[in-house]
Amino acid sequence: MAKFKRILLKLSGESLMGQQGYGIDQNRLSDYARQIKEIYDMHVQIGIVIGGGNIFRGLSGSQKGFDRVKGDQMGMCATVINSLALSSALDSVGAKTKVLTAIRMEPIGEFYSKWKAIEAMEAGYICIFSAGTGNPYFTTDTGASLRGIEIGADVMLKGTRVDGVYTADPEKDPQAKKFKDITYDEIYTRGLKVMDLTATTMCKENHLPIYVFDMDCYGNLKKVLDGEEIGTLVHN
Ligand code: UDP
Repeated sequence: MAKFKRILLKLSGESLMGQQGYGIDQNRLSDYARQIKEIYDMHVQIGIVIGGGNIFRGLSGSQKGFDRVKGDQMGMCATVINSLALSSALDSVGAKTKVLTAIRMEPIGEFYSKWKAIEAMEAGYICIFSAGTGNPYFTTDTGASLRGIEIGADVMLKGTRVDGVYTADPEKDPQAKKFKDITYDEIYTRGLKVMDLTATTMCKENHLPIYVFDMDCYGNLKKVLDGEEIGTLVHN
């Protein structure tokens, strides 16, 4: 039996680019699709939010002279591109998907509603929630928190390239120690960066735990659903 019945999986757009430095790496994409198919076959209800940082980020765009709101809209479109790519890759491994968009853009995806999403997940579709929250000045981490809370997910699984939450950045500090679990309050007091503050606060206030794990190591997603403690649980 899978550890969770319904999950919200958050993937960063940045990791989708693999070693390429930009865009979508086909190997990474198919790697993700096959990992997700493994837990789909365990009858886990799956909602996914994927970022857009491999294509465009509003904040970095505005530093180069783009209007911030237009830049964020470009970022949201980037998440739609990644969502379509992931949907296509999942379809090709035999998992049924629905792309829902936070901004109306039929027929690219159906306009999001909580009830549509839950009905689709209960009917065996993976729902990919694209275009973030639909608003500028937010991130896909916040979009993932929002959708996770709305659909009543048991947990947000945050797939990153680091295998959990550490006392310091393990890529910079070899002494950094990993937490098996940590509370939201400790995240604040220690000033740790798991997600941006808006997203973290949404999860804390609405009691959605986050499980941080390394999604770039093949097979890890299934391990999490099998109950193996390979990452860090962030909870109230
Ligand atoms: N974005 C936005 N509103 C949202 C979600 C995302 O404006 O609700 C834009 C924002 O410009 C962001 C970009 O989409 O920089 C890509 O999302 P994010 O940076 O979260 O992607 P990731 O870092 O996960 O790849």
